[in-house]
Amino acid sequence: MSLKDAFSRAFEIIETIEGHGGQAYIVGGSVRDYLSERPIGDIDIATSLLPEQVQQIFDKVIPIGIEHGTVMVRHRSESYEVTTFRKEEGYEDYRHPDHVRFVSKIEDDLARRDFTMNAMAMDRHGEVTDPYGGRDDLIAGKIRAVGDPRERFEEDPLRMLRAVRFASQLQFDIEANTFEAIQQKAHLLKHIAVERVAVETEKLYKGIGYKAGIRFMIETNLMKQLPVFRDYTAERLPVPEVRLHSWSEMLAFYLILDNGIELKDWVKQWKLSNAIKRESETLILCMRMYINQEVSPWLLYNLPDSFIAPFVRVMKALKYLDVPGVEDIQNRKRQLPVQDKNDITFQAQDLLRLYEGKERGPWIASTLRRIEQAVVEQRVPNDYEKIKEWVKWNPPANS
Ligand code: ATP
Ligand code: MG
Repeated sequence: MSLKDAFSRAFEIIETIEGHGGQAYIVGGSVRDYLSERPIGDIDIATSLLPEQVQQIFDKVIPIGIEHGTVMVRHRSESYEVTTFRKEEGYEDYRHPDHVRFVSKIEDDLARRDFTMNAMAMDRHGEVTDPYGGRDDLIAGKIRAVGDPRERFEEDPLRMLRAVRFASQLQFDIEANTFEAIQQKAHLLKHIAVERVAVETEKLYKGIGYKAGIRFMIETNLMKQLPVFRDYTAERLPVPEVRLHSWSEMLAFYLILDNGIELKDWVKQWKLSNAIKRESETLILCMRMYINQEVSPWLLYNLPDSFIAPFVRVMKALKYLDVPGVEDIQNRKRQLPVQDKNDITFQAQDLLRLYEGKERGPWIASTLRRIEQAVVEQRVPNDYEKIKEWVKWNPPANS
């Protein structure tokens, strides 16, 4: 992508800031990704102006973190985080810095950043400020801490896991001194909120270089700091055959390989959401069906459209390499006699009418479920009278 295609709108923001006597640069991940010819994500801007001043000179601003110096500027339908040049001080308890101090030079702002490749700034002419040799490290494919890695990881232990996830995403190596520092300081990761650790861990598994990433996670000792993963022996940690895209896929993968750890333990120890829990349950249900009888109509029926791709990925990750492709499954799913329980011509009220006087109980749901399965498997046509007949021959249990 050309410089203009990538950054022309962001440069307009910089121009406006300069018109008001400030300095501003594009910083962080987008400079890294542009220089290494990768797709660019969010564009972050660093400026010498204070957040209040930034708020005054742009029409559409959302103060998302004023105390840290950050405001969100909307410009030509895009959002930019504009953050005042700052230093971070007083990392107590290995948590977020106590306070930030605004500074006047971009170089001071770059010094607080984690890795050399993330510590570059670009002005609106495309001129790059690169005090730590980030560009050379990008070319060499090396993740190197800015300054003394031991100090930097003591300030913020999450950086260690970030190193490993960047290694996975970018297929980079971790520079030797930085690597050793992680090995030494890995234990500090326990001070970091598990939610933040979970975000980085998911990105690690999602990265193209996830196999090397997982290996780094083991070799740096970080694995021993990760809930549940720490319970595996390093040699025995299963590695997916293809990369997974989300926590629910990761859970499904590890749970089906059962090592005695239950879903509720994963969810509790990692503080994962109920949505993730339910998604992994659906996946596991369908995976069990596939393992028992490949792609049955009942499996297709129970696999929601949005779960097809995750299902295929997890099966491949488990080395079920014959699993059909996403489109194939979609097509077969469309050919089912019914798509949804509302399509069934015989519903709960019909069943209750048929068994008037029978006490209500779990038999209702289980009978309806059996009817659903019989229709899906074409053991009975989706026809009211035919189903009624079928129920008489296959009556509900007593409770
Ligand atoms: P991604 O593409 O994953 O968003 P990124 O480099 O933009 O990668 P962010 O977490 O969005 O990563 O952070 C933006 C920038 O802020 C980084 O490039 C880095 O300069 C700085 N940064 C982020 N987190 C840290 C940290 N824990 N310690 C030091 N600097 C950090
Ligand atoms: Mg980013």
